[in-house]
Amino acid sequence: MHCPFCSADDTKVIDSRLVAEGGQVRRRRECLSCKERFTTYEMAELVMPRVIKSDDTREPFDEDKLRSGLLRALEKRPVGIEEIEAAISHIQHDLRATGEREVTSRMIGEQVMGQLRELDEVAYVRFASVYRSFQDLSEFRAELDRLEKNLPENGLKKNGRLKKNDPKKNYLKKDKG
Ligand SMILES: [Zn+2]
Repeated sequence: MHCPFCSADDTKVIDSRLVAEGGQVRRRRECLSCKERFTTYEMAELVMPRVIKSDDTREPFDEDKLRSGLLRALEKRPVGIEEIEAAISHIQHDLRATGEREVTSRMIGEQVMGQLRELDEVAYVRFASVYRSFQDLSEFRAELDRLEKNLPENGLKKNGRLKKNDPKKNYLKKDKG
C-alpha cells in the first residue's frame, strides 16, 4: 500500500501477527523511500451496507428500525420473539452476503416481506399493504388475489402460515424491476 507520509507507491511489511483472538491481522510496515513506519489492521468487513432510500439519499442501516417494522406488522400475532429475532438475523445475513456496500431500501422491504410471508400471513399482508401501496399497486392487488384464492372462505389458516413459499425466490423475482 501507499505510504501515508510521503505517498510513495510501495511499503514493506516488516512484521505481521494475528491479534484480537485471531480476528485481525496487525502489520507493521516501513516506507521504502522515507523510512517511516506505520501499522495497519486487517479484518473481515461485517458492517451492514448503507441504505439507498427511494429519493437517492443514503442512511446507515438501522436494525432497530427493521425490528420495529417487523413488530408492527406482527402485533397481536402468534409469533414468538425468537422467531422474529431469527428473521432479523436472516435479513441482515442476506444483506451482508450481497457484498454490496450500499443496498436499496426496496431490497430490504422485499427481504422483510419474504420473512413475514414465512412467519405469518396476516403480518405479511399488513406489511405489504403499507409497503406495496407506495411501490406498485397492481402488483399488490395481484398478490392479494392470489392469497384470497388460496385461503379457505372463513379467512386465514389456523396459524396464518403459508404452505410452501421460498421467500428468496420471490424476492429475486420481484427485484428485477
Ligand atoms: Zn514514505
